[in-house]
Amino acid sequence: MTSAQPNPLWHPFADMGAVDGDRFVVTRGEGSYVWDEDGERYFDATASLWYANFGHGREEITRAVTEQLRTLDSYNLFGYNATKPALELAERVSALAPVPGSKVFLGSGGGDVVDTAVKIARSYFAHTGRPEKVHVIGRVQGYHGTHGFGTAAGGIAVNAEGFGPQASGFSHIAWDSAEALEAEIQRVGPERVAAFFCEPVIGAGGVLLPPDGYIEAVAEICHRHDVLFVADCVIAAFGRLGTWFGIDRWPVRPDLITTAKGITGGTIPLGALLVAPRVAEPFFTGAPGAPVLRHGATYAGHPVACAAANATLDIYERDGLIPRGRELEKPLADALSGLRSHPLVGEVRAGLGFLAAVELRDDLLATDPGAPGRLQRLCRAEGVLVRPVGRGIVVSPPLIAAEPELDLLASALPRAMDRLV
Ligand code: PMP
Repeated sequence: MTSAQPNPLWHPFADMGAVDGDRFVVTRGEGSYVWDEDGERYFDATASLWYANFGHGREEITRAVTEQLRTLDSYNLFGYNATKPALELAERVSALAPVPGSKVFLGSGGGDVVDTAVKIARSYFAHTGRPEKVHVIGRVQGYHGTHGFGTAAGGIAVNAEGFGPQASGFSHIAWDSAEALEAEIQRVGPERVAAFFCEPVIGAGGVLLPPDGYIEAVAEICHRHDVLFVADCVIAAFGRLGTWFGIDRWPVRPDLITTAKGITGGTIPLGALLVAPRVAEPFFTGAPGAPVLRHGATYAGHPVACAAANATLDIYERDGLIPRGRELEKPLADALSGLRSHPLVGEVRAGLGFLAAVELRDDLLATDPGAPGRLQRLCRAEGVLVRPVGRGIVVSPPLIAAEPELDLLASALPRAMDRLV
């Protein structure tokens, strides 16, 4: 490789003309910190992409993955096939599920299980005599990955621009209004609506916390119209909101729960879809001619990923990390509270789970749309990795973060903000 040539790596969600020659190359991780190629240390305040919930560099994962590679490095789950780590993981995840008896369909990431959820929702109705129930309702600012159905279900308009026609049978409602869901179901016709996609806390759309009573209200509306309630917990699960699945902070019974990210702490790609027994039932009857879900990706439920996930669940259990997401929500909000009065800050959203957003003022964004990206760099210069999202930055630190890391946030972010203009 000649150094004169730019590296051909094309980054997701990146302006490659700007990235070339200015990459931030991460070389090592340990605990809540990562190091770059110059040996500089940074607090990983976003747990990479919301997923390094137990931090980086856990020996238990290395051991479990190495052991699995030695024993059985790959095998698929198609048809009658299974592997021990996949069976163990399905049992453990199902035992923790808010809906008892849930079935577990494994995938290779979040977007993968989101698309699986749409297919299962539609085929559930197709196989129970209501084939016209295909419509899916998402929320403005919702994010459900970049696969076909997930792109269509997502409500961040720019993420669908320029890709031609989207999958049909999707619409979006205001993210914060249960009445809007009722109205949209009436507009489309309850007999045509299959599912409603809902992140308990909207993540990539800017850390939007649900209004009080919202989750209970939309769950009830879905139930009343026999619309499947899909809780997209790809970010929310595995401690981010202080519970196993995130949606189990509320007294609701989702029909489908999507998870990924924290299920392996991000170490190996994996997604898991929980399917409530009534939705799975038509596929499990064993009757002649019973429906077969003709869906599944090569690497779905890969044994090495499942081994990593089983070791991850051990870590969460042994270290008591899951409740941390709730225990740390107020300390995180407190750490960011100084920013609320900063002249460049429009809003700080925090207080539900271990994640937060700091949004810049409208007038600043209007004249300087690149400000969130610059703020990210200024935070990096302060030794803190944050992510520019929409109108500001987000943080979602590892659940092992403690007082020193929160103190660092409290001091570094205002310093970075001071340098923004
Ligand atoms: N759903 C939600 C709520 C997400 O936050 C994400 C990823 N950030 C996805 C789905 C897609 O997951 P993946 O990037 O693993 O495909």
